[in-house]
Amino acid sequence: MNSDLKRPKGWKELPAGAVLPAGTAVEYHTGSWRTFKPVWIEKKCIHCLQCWIICPDFSVLVKDQKFDRFDYDHCKGCGLCAYICPVKGKAIVMEKEVKE
Ligand code: SF4
Ligand code: SF4
Repeated sequence: MNSDLKRPKGWKELPAGAVLPAGTAVEYHTGSWRTFKPVWIEKKCIHCLQCWIICPDFSVLVKDQKFDRFDYDHCKGCGLCAYICPVKGKAIVMEKEVKE
């Protein structure tokens, strides 16, 4: 173990990390964290909205009680929506993110 590293005695000695404004994270485009992105296959979708229920980032957008699109600004690419999709062959597939 490196003896130069000083172990903090408590949380007050920890250096400040990221500071988020209270109440909202909308301005933080966490979609840039993705390595995989969900892609919707419209012709297979039965609009059961299980993907909307399970998405932890509210990134499945619904219009007129049907799947509309993903909010790629905030989707972190966890893949839960693809996992839960009940359609045979899946109406959501995860694809490698291509950074521009
Ligand atoms: S879970 Fe699959 S079938 Fe259901 S709305 Fe989402 S994409 Fe469509
Ligand atoms: S990949 Fe995860 S964060 Fe993105 S839409 Fe699906 S469930 Fe939501």
